[in-house]
Amino acid sequence: MIHPIISGNKWRKLKEYIGLAQINGSNSIISFGGAFSNHLYALSYVGNQFNIKTIGIIRGNELSINSNSYLKQMSEWGMDLHFLDRESYRKKIIPEEIETENVIVIPEGGFSKVGVLGLEGLKNELNEQIQADYIITAVGTGTTAIGISKFLKIKTIGILTLNNLTEIEHNCKEFDLDNFLEIKTNYIFGKYAKESQVLNEFCDTFNKKHQILIEPTYTGRMFYGLYDLIRNNYFPKNSKLIALHTGGIKLPH
Ligand SMILES: *Cc1c(COP(=O)(O)O)cnc(C)c1O
Repeated sequence: MIHPIISGNKWRKLKEYIGLAQINGSNSIISFGGAFSNHLYALSYVGNQFNIKTIGIIRGNELSINSNSYLKQMSEWGMDLHFLDRESYRKKIIPEEIETENVIVIPEGGFSKVGVLGLEGLKNELNEQIQADYIITAVGTGTTAIGISKFLKIKTIGILTLNNLTEIEHNCKEFDLDNFLEIKTNYIFGKYAKESQVLNEFCDTFNKKHQILIEPTYTGRMFYGLYDLIRNNYFPKNSKLIALHTGGIKLPH
């Protein structure tokens, strides 16, 4: 609920980059993502608000700005969109026509040391409200989970949402996390964003019961995993848990 559009962790992962772009007088910020990327959606909005030019490199050269309402909205917020074939995208090739002098390139999904730094503010926000034993969060690139365990120094349970455990373990090695972070791989539901009736029903019931919106891709998998861990007595009795709602509710603006 920190913002209606860049609803959750995407702002935290971007804010240090915005600061850098302002200090350096950068010409633009470039980043990568799929056709429904929350990360690029947030970047396009933030660029618009801070008057920083943004360039989005999108996976799939069959797409255009009219392929979905998010791409259209991103384009309207002033993001320059380039559509790459899957092979070039995999290699993260920046098309030649893009000016790369004095630009900031944010890796796909925002994972980097700079991105992780943006999670530091969450420490004070949480400490003012609750002293918890565990914090649970959804994991995509791991930036959020790594930042939390690094700065909060409490046991962090990361619910993995895609088949990238090797990448996450690799990302973790860049930080001194003292075993605070534990990744759970049982709640991927096949692959990234794969639909599941069980998961959809779980989200519907949760939304109705708590009047808190969750979506199946990230926060739904996270809460589903959390309930499952509780049911299986993973947490000692009387543990205090924080479930971090990382956003992901993209209501077209
Ligand atoms: C992007 C995203 C995540 C994943 O965050 P990482 O820092 O990449 O692990 C989790 N939840 C939501 C709602 C997201 O949009």
